[in-house]
Amino acid sequence: MTAVIDKEALYRKYREERDKRLRPDGNDQYLRLTGRFAHYLADPYTPRMEREPKADHVTVAVIGGGFAGLVTGARLREAGVGDVRLIDKAGDFGGTWYWNRYPGAQCDTASFVYMPLLEETGHMPTEKYAHAPEILEHCRRIGKHYGLYDNALFHTEVRQLEWDAARSRWHLYTDRGDHFTAQFVTMGVGPLHVPKLPGIPGIQSFRGHSFHTSRWDYAYTGGDPSGAPMDRLADRRVAVIGTGATAVQCVPHLARACKELYVFQRTPSSVDVRDNRPTDPEWFARIATPGWQQRWLENFTAVQTGGLAEEDLVMDGWTDIARRVRAKIKELDELTPEKLLAAFEDSDFEKMEEIRARVDAVVEHRETARKLKAWYRQLCKRPCFHDEYLQAFNVPGTHLVDTDGKGVERITETGVVVAGREYEADCVIYASGFEVGTDYTRRAGYDLAGRDGARLSERWADGMRTLHGIHVHGFPNAFLVQPAQGANLISNIPHNLTEAGRTIAVIVKHALDHGFAEVEVTKAAEDAWVELLLSGPGTLLGSPDCTPGYYNNEGRQDLGLRSWLNVGYPQGAMAYFAYIDEWRSSNAFEGLEFRP
Ligand code: NDP
Repeated sequence: MTAVIDKEALYRKYREERDKRLRPDGNDQYLRLTGRFAHYLADPYTPRMEREPKADHVTVAVIGGGFAGLVTGARLREAGVGDVRLIDKAGDFGGTWYWNRYPGAQCDTASFVYMPLLEETGHMPTEKYAHAPEILEHCRRIGKHYGLYDNALFHTEVRQLEWDAARSRWHLYTDRGDHFTAQFVTMGVGPLHVPKLPGIPGIQSFRGHSFHTSRWDYAYTGGDPSGAPMDRLADRRVAVIGTGATAVQCVPHLARACKELYVFQRTPSSVDVRDNRPTDPEWFARIATPGWQQRWLENFTAVQTGGLAEEDLVMDGWTDIARRVRAKIKELDELTPEKLLAAFEDSDFEKMEEIRARVDAVVEHRETARKLKAWYRQLCKRPCFHDEYLQAFNVPGTHLVDTDGKGVERITETGVVVAGREYEADCVIYASGFEVGTDYTRRAGYDLAGRDGARLSERWADGMRTLHGIHVHGFPNAFLVQPAQGANLISNIPHNLTEAGRTIAVIVKHALDHGFAEVEVTKAAEDAWVELLLSGPGTLLGSPDCTPGYYNNEGRQDLGLRSWLNVGYPQGAMAYFAYIDEWRSSNAFEGLEFRP
């Protein structure tokens, strides 16, 4: 029998926990990694090669060599557009999977829908949730399969883009002295790629070793990204700051390796069951019939967003959220907005009670278990899934240091201080995440000077405005590859990207085939799209009732379109994908203006 949930008590508890964490400085609490913090950004994986600056012309410059750039490059090549140049600040393709090689890194969304272009490249993921080395290798596979290495520039950061109206092309300037031109530019720089550090007093004074999880220092820890034991930590005291999705994956490995591990927690993550397993090749051979990945993608999205789906192919923690809501809705006698909202809320309360009960069932030390419980709705923060994280707190030598929502008080020359007590450490590892809510041009590292010199940073001073999350009025021949203002499907970012890549390839091909020099969204079409987005219900992710985090702009509710997450297509991701498929197949390209 299900226990009765005291909703009033839960509301109160959720509010109390949120209020403890609200702070006026929002995103400004974090440090920019420039100047004296710049060394946190250094690439530990690939030596930088010297090369001559480029001064040529390409048809398409693709900024970003992660999933966004790779799928766009792939779709362009498939469309017969050969002259494509990918540019990335990393030493190879991979984007987030290039940088994030921390122990235990793996995808949190099932590989079959998360890893793009599996069918095209003929790869079978070896596990339901593939580990990082396999995903990085897959990125390289895509690069090789589509010949994207041929003209690529690595360890290269674009610094400025300028539109040349006389010649209908973009000028690109980079930190390697390049100045080349491109008729079209695509921008897939990723929403989470600039590491950030917490602005903890004294952070500069620490004399031991320290690094950010996205620049894992295996030379210090021993081990490797494939999971070899970190044999240099056996006599070390290590502090990890942060308990988000990254920490959840690397803490179990550290717990096994360190003499003492201190995990500093400001807000607990919700950690549901992972249930990873190897892929059975016979099963895979049966499902991998032509068109299989598109079917899986559509099924995953449909199950999650209330579309029509007779079966749940992925069956995991993400689709469980939707299955529960659906079951509750089925029980309703009438579908009023109030009853629908209550159905959402009830299934969420039940789910979170289960997740909290799991902590009690797994963690032996009662006080530690109490502190590891998450008091917010599941989609308030990024849901986590893991079968060894909670268990790590049963390992002797692993200590949770909860800060009761306040965060670490201070860092000294020798350790980390919470509530006046110093925890001495040889190494501090920052699992403190990435910039999210800051301006697009700040995160991208470049601004665009578009038609008539208009700057993207100024155009978007009050927030992003696009058509389909791809086109911006005043910036011809430039395309964004990202999820916001389109499907906004957070549970599977690559699905957004593959669709955007497909759309862009069709548009570029159309322009080239018909001899158009320029394509630009009209102001009217952009305005109408933004109005449509704002007429929708928004998203649960940015709810003001949520505990602060990057899903809700660190608790700031006054930012409107400045929050990249808060608006997607009003009818949901499935409807957006159907809409955009029809839009690009119609060949009318409504809202765009092609010019000779
Ligand atoms: P997050 O931003 O999610 O986590 C940062 C952590 O640092 C939080 O626990 C935060 O606490 C904590 N923190 C910040 N300031 C302080 C402070 N002063 N004192 C103590 N703690 C502090 O970063 P992650 O790298 O974990 O994850 C970022 C995103 O990357 C994820 O949400 C996910 O989208 C993606 N990701 C995906 C993975 C996958 O798919 N496999 C794996 C890992 C990450 P608080 O919560 O209170 O702000």
